[in-house]
Amino acid sequence: MKHSIFFIVLLSICFCCTESVKTSSNQSENTSADTSENDMQTKAEFAIIIHGGAGTILKKNMTPEKELAYKAKLEEAIRVGYEILKNGGTSLDAVQKTINVMEDSPLFNAGKGAVFTNAETNELDASIMDGKTLNAGASAGTITVRNPINLARIIMDKSPHVMMAGVGADTYAKEQGLSIVEPSYFYTEHRFNALKRAMEREQIELDHDDKQAFYDPEIKDSKFGTVGCAALDKNGNLAAGTSTGGMTNKRYGRVGDAPIIGAGTYANNNSCAVSSTGWGEYFIRSMVAHDISALMQYKGLTLQEAAREVIHTKVPALGGDGGIVAVDKNGIMVAEFNTAGMYRATMNDKGELTIGIYKE
Ligand code: ASP
Repeated sequence: MKHSIFFIVLLSICFCCTESVKTSSNQSENTSADTSENDMQTKAEFAIIIHGGAGTILKKNMTPEKELAYKAKLEEAIRVGYEILKNGGTSLDAVQKTINVMEDSPLFNAGKGAVFTNAETNELDASIMDGKTLNAGASAGTITVRNPINLARIIMDKSPHVMMAGVGADTYAKEQGLSIVEPSYFYTEHRFNALKRAMEREQIELDHDDKQAFYDPEIKDSKFGTVGCAALDKNGNLAAGTSTGGMTNKRYGRVGDAPIIGAGTYANNNSCAVSSTGWGEYFIRSMVAHDISALMQYKGLTLQEAAREVIHTKVPALGGDGGIVAVDKNGIMVAEFNTAGMYRATMNDKGELTIGIYKE
């Protein structure tokens, strides 16, 4: 009797174990089948999206030649990153090299075309972030570094720091052998004239109220052209970067959102990579780039939903404006802005190119 009870108990234990192993193996089979099916449907091999600044960019203020020039430069820039990604390069390299093209063009408010400060100087900001490691690099207020995004990258890769500013950042760039230029390299007539207009306006209309002058809508609109890029590479790694001269007529020493990790730039392989452009003070206060990532990670929003929430609700509620470009871990790309326009372009793994300027 004792033996037969023992035998029955043993049998039932064995049965239970087999069932539970079966169930769990079924579950894992189902999960992986679902995932790979989803992957096949939605996961792109790689993707790249760029912006060249957001603001009151209206067709009526644009000549056909100017429009063509912007489109050509956006295409030239994004194709550089696309080739890197297509050939199996990293998203970090794609972001950096794409931004270099726009930094070397006087069309954009970054590198060569940087806007002027109130002291008639050019002070440049940039940042880059690696979504795989969450490493980041940023530089603020440099005056001699030809390509600030390269300095941000080298700060990330070679220094123990995340952010360097002012004279120290310029010195570090020189020590690291980056291309150094005379401050006069950043002089462009159209940016200098924009500063003069902003200063005259400030003088006439706003007397001595510094803060108000900076917040004047017309003055802040002479800033277009910050550049940024977000990319996903074939290894599933996300990266983002942003480079800017800041805002016309900014006070010397002012730092915007572009070099602030979480505001101007953010990348995380678990969510997305984001580059911002717009009125920096509001983008810092809203932590725009990180907020989009956090809404995806903690609230389960899609990239599109998260970007809409931040750009159309959160930032305007404070009084700010601007936009973002972003890509998620599946290669879904989003360009969202609450201004009249934003220079932008995308390329997917099929080599399809889109370019936009206005609201379409
Ligand atoms: N966000 C930049 C800044 O505030 C300017 C811009 O994107 O247009 O410095």
